[in-house]
Amino acid sequence: MAGPTLMLKMKPIYLNVALAVPLRRTFHYLPPKGQMAEECQVGCRVKVPFGRQTLVGFVIGHAQESDFADKIKPALELIDRQAILSAKMFELCVWASEYYHHALGEVLHGAIPVLLRQGRDSDARTKKLESVHDDPELIIKDLRQAPRQRALLQALIPDGLTKEALSRLDYSAATIKALIDRGAAHWQEFRLEAPEKPPQSFGTPLNLSDEQSQALAAIDHSGTHLLFGITGSGKTEVYLQAIEKVVRIGKQALMLVPEIGLTPQTIARFEQRFPGQVIAMHSAMTNLERLGAWRRAHSGSAAVIVGTRSAIYSPMPNPGLIVVDEEHDASFKQQEGFRYSARDLAVKRGQLERIPVLLGSATPSLETFANAKSGRYKRLNLTRRANDASFAKYKIIGTEHQQLDEGFSPQLVKMMRQHLSEGNQVLVFLNRRGFAPVLHCRQCRWLSNCPRCDGRMTFHLTTKMLVCHHCDSQQRSPKSCPDCGSNELVPLGLGTQRLESGLQKIFPDEKIVRIDRDSTRKKNELENKLEEVGKGQRGILLGTQLLAKGHHFPDVTLVAVVDLDSGLFSSDFHAVERMGQLLLQVGGRAGREKKSGVVAIQTLYPEQPMLKLLVEKGYEAFCDELLVDRQTSELPPYNYQAIVRAEAAQAGTALNFLESLSRTSQFPHAELLGPIPAPMEKRAGKFRAQLLASSSSRGQLHQLLKHIVNEAEQSIGKQQVRWSIDVDPYDLF
Ligand code: ADP
Ligand code: ZN
Ligand code: ZN
Repeated sequence: MAGPTLMLKMKPIYLNVALAVPLRRTFHYLPPKGQMAEECQVGCRVKVPFGRQTLVGFVIGHAQESDFADKIKPALELIDRQAILSAKMFELCVWASEYYHHALGEVLHGAIPVLLRQGRDSDARTKKLESVHDDPELIIKDLRQAPRQRALLQALIPDGLTKEALSRLDYSAATIKALIDRGAAHWQEFRLEAPEKPPQSFGTPLNLSDEQSQALAAIDHSGTHLLFGITGSGKTEVYLQAIEKVVRIGKQALMLVPEIGLTPQTIARFEQRFPGQVIAMHSAMTNLERLGAWRRAHSGSAAVIVGTRSAIYSPMPNPGLIVVDEEHDASFKQQEGFRYSARDLAVKRGQLERIPVLLGSATPSLETFANAKSGRYKRLNLTRRANDASFAKYKIIGTEHQQLDEGFSPQLVKMMRQHLSEGNQVLVFLNRRGFAPVLHCRQCRWLSNCPRCDGRMTFHLTTKMLVCHHCDSQQRSPKSCPDCGSNELVPLGLGTQRLESGLQKIFPDEKIVRIDRDSTRKKNELENKLEEVGKGQRGILLGTQLLAKGHHFPDVTLVAVVDLDSGLFSSDFHAVERMGQLLLQVGGRAGREKKSGVVAIQTLYPEQPMLKLLVEKGYEAFCDELLVDRQTSELPPYNYQAIVRAEAAQAGTALNFLESLSRTSQFPHAELLGPIPAPMEKRAGKFRAQLLASSSSRGQLHQLLKHIVNEAEQSIGKQQVRWSIDVDPYDLF
């Protein structure tokens, strides 16, 4: 029996440290010399030796004993006095690491800006190079022979220069060192003022419609809400006013937007409503800008944070609300490395922080729709368009018996002429950039296959290049067939560029603006093109998914979906859901103001029941029906899935690796399907395979995944295999 002395709480001796290494385990260290383990609080960063490297890790706990006690090394330095992640954020990361079966150290690192990952101070300290002497004029005279040092010293008068400011100037490290060695300048630790909280002020809100006021009033309590509002119904105004409510009582709000939605216009709209109180977090920021924004969020001086996926980790000492706009959008799911869903983390964070979460969409994802239906999420509806704009009408054009001209049926061409002749704009939408022309030989049927993938290379007309959209391989397109030497090489299939030249033939006198990733690579190019379109002159707009989201085209009265089928016949059960979302989203671009819109859809299968249901009864009926389907075929959201993917340089290696993982599992209530070769088995020179795990019980699925992860980490063959795990995969490839 344990004696009373053992009941005394023992002092911790070791730090339990999470490092950003892919191993799903943590490491023991002694506290840095001269420090007690308790001084190193959970959530603080430490520098530690790891093999030959020095790494920055997080203290995640303490221990009194360790199996490796005689080998444990001391940490090198405690970087933070106080945890840089709040207890709630820490909890969120631990939860995410377990839920997604990803190494905790990597999750924690992903939650802070790059400069903090590298060990930079979290409070606003930096170093400043200052002149040592009160009267540097004396020294400047001495420096006649060293003009660079002399110029630098002059630049340091009177206030010195921070490291950041210096890095923008053109002084070499040698010049700086020489000046310091001479005793003329020295580094001083320099504390930046804590960012000041700007005074509260608010732009004028719009008068809400009844539906909008009801929605706003319902967001008072913690819990997750679905704002189900058709495009143009004024969801953004509801977000703005819900945010204003929390900001007025001194709290912070976080709004996540899809990658494509964080435009200068969005930021300007927020800035106008919350002057000086908004920060934006996005991928185009430099590391230093990110750290600055992080500090403003961390100190509470920024009341409103607007950002893309990774902004879900923004620190908020005083959180009041999280909004996720276009919650169905694919960009919220990270597709590589740590494969998290920012939308789902937002819901979890809301629960932990006990604050409301607002998910908004005109076309909610099926899982969110189901959660609202079952009452887990509170559903708020906006059914009418603001500004009295009317709904788009949908028209299905069956092309099975028609002669197409450059991809267009006579009926569609006629409609386009009609709308153009009335002085309006027509938007021609192509399902995806990936469905693009490949080069083929009329003589021997040679195809432009990618040498590194199972896919084909796309022919780009303007640059005369062949580009693989799966691995980015590029090559000049051949002038004659590499196999038979014939000159009859022609593009097959529809791509935006091909469609553009086709449109030019059919409508030689119309202005045509093409918007896709290739035509908007340069900075501001997308903005400029959109502005051009915004001027409202008649013409044809041609584009891909880029056009389906977010932007308003008030003068577009006809949206033409040229080829619906290319994305539809997929082995992925998500395809129909995505088709419905896409059709409604493109439809929402049309006729937003006084003009009403038509959406014309060309398809070889006009009788498809789901298409008819969507067009005739709307998204709600469409989702209800999809849910019935998913339930009978035991698919999400009625069952939970994860994909284990593996790739290797040799054919068969990845498959064997997954095979060995699946053999050992014994979980009666979870299923393993496969392993099978990935739908595109060879990609970027690697052979890929996948294993699908599913269960009607989340708990069982997790048991199974835990087992698989253990096996994979111990597996002998793993050195030749790269593997990853994707919980709640966005698609099955
Ligand atoms: P959604 O995000 O739901 O597609 P938006 O928020 O972009 O719709 O609103 C569509 C248009 O309606 C915008 O031009 C917006 O300014 C306007 N609008 C929204 N709410 C109101 C309102 N209560 N009164 C007048 N105009 C409004
Ligand atoms: Zn040929
Ligand atoms: Zn390729």
